[in-house]
Amino acid sequence: MPVLVKGGEIITATERYAADIWCAGETITRIAPNIQPPPGAEVIDAAAKYVFPGFVDPHVHIYLPCLGTLAKDSHATASQAALVGGTTTLIEVLGPDRSQDPQEGFELWLDKAQGHCACDFTFHMTVSRYDGRVEKQLREIVRHGLSSFKVYLAYKDAFGLSDRELYLTLRLARELGVITAAHCENAELVAELQSQQLAEGKTGPEWHHESRPPVIEAEGVHHLLTFAKLLGAHVYIVHLSCAEALREVAVGKASGAKVWAETLIQYLLLDKSYAERPNFEGAKYVMSPPLRERRHQEILWGALRENEINTLASDHAPFDFATQKRLGVNDFTQIPNGLPAIEDRVNMLHTYGVKPGWLDLHRFVEVASTQAAKLFGLYPRKGAIRPGSDADLVIYDPTYRGTISAGRQVMNVDYNPFEGMGIEGRPQAVILRGQVVAREGRFIGQPGRG
Ligand code: MN
Ligand code: MN
Repeated sequence: MPVLVKGGEIITATERYAADIWCAGETITRIAPNIQPPPGAEVIDAAAKYVFPGFVDPHVHIYLPCLGTLAKDSHATASQAALVGGTTTLIEVLGPDRSQDPQEGFELWLDKAQGHCACDFTFHMTVSRYDGRVEKQLREIVRHGLSSFKVYLAYKDAFGLSDRELYLTLRLARELGVITAAHCENAELVAELQSQQLAEGKTGPEWHHESRPPVIEAEGVHHLLTFAKLLGAHVYIVHLSCAEALREVAVGKASGAKVWAETLIQYLLLDKSYAERPNFEGAKYVMSPPLRERRHQEILWGALRENEINTLASDHAPFDFATQKRLGVNDFTQIPNGLPAIEDRVNMLHTYGVKPGWLDLHRFVEVASTQAAKLFGLYPRKGAIRPGSDADLVIYDPTYRGTISAGRQVMNVDYNPFEGMGIEGRPQAVILRGQVVAREGRFIGQPGRG
């Protein structure tokens, strides 16, 4: 059924105006004032609401083997949580480890997602090994349409590339016109600090931060940018968490590196005291890089506003507290890393970024949607409201007031890191390629349509 969005205020990364939006089939076909609905159209009343382009989460994990367990969400539950929260497109990290071929990983992840994911999706292709066989397969995968690689400077055993492999990966990325996303932490330093800590009996989650201090992340950024500069390759620093790493990005940029940076909603709102909560509750907040001291938050907000940080992601990685996080009860290095945030990223950014004035509404749209669409080859199908774009729209009620609660969430995990925090604003309706898929916190779409 064709959809008419009527009476809303359209807000994109660059524009703000009142108009109606006519969606026929899966795309936006007309934007004009006072479009009269033909018989048979579904009319969405958007009076007093914002109309945003569908949000893009540029960094999530769904099918995620980690320390012998699997992240909790399926593609069905994660994508429905995404849609309820206004995210219509996600980019999942497709992560074969060093023992798997890229092609094998690509087929496995695609099989998990296709027919199960309710929102649109694409992948970052992890490169965890580099040789002639891998190179041939990567070329084929890029030909298939993927537009980014992912590399880990951390996690040496599973995903770590040697410097030679990193060099060859970035060289191939440069040749193919692919951007490379990178997790920047020095793996060997982390491993060394962790083994010292465990030898000293420092086994609780409160020690996680000390095993990966800001200087180790900054070194990772510097290391990556050395290679990127040598090769002229485009790189994207995922989950930048601290002032020290941000400084390395600025230094790299000033000397010619083609670098973009992402931060996470978690780093903007939570700090390391959460991971220090007693009775192992801190394990809920164990992620890498770790939550930092509170002083970093203002610096990250300012950088996000000034476009020194370009995008905001969730790095969604849900593990149950009661069972999975407990795997590390005697050794924090065995706590599965990650926090669930795919559902709440947009509302938390609106509440704690827009409302207090850190970001205006255009910058909000840009960091949570448009910039990621541009970097990863999705724009202007995604991240825009214009004729010809996919009809992915979020009808947003800025007057809504609510409280985050794991009991009411769509994500399939037993806690929420933002439990009890207030939200101001939420999607009243979410449209994915011309179909209404979520209303007021409930998924009403077609499973597996992404
Ligand atoms: Mn990571
Ligand atoms: Mn990640």
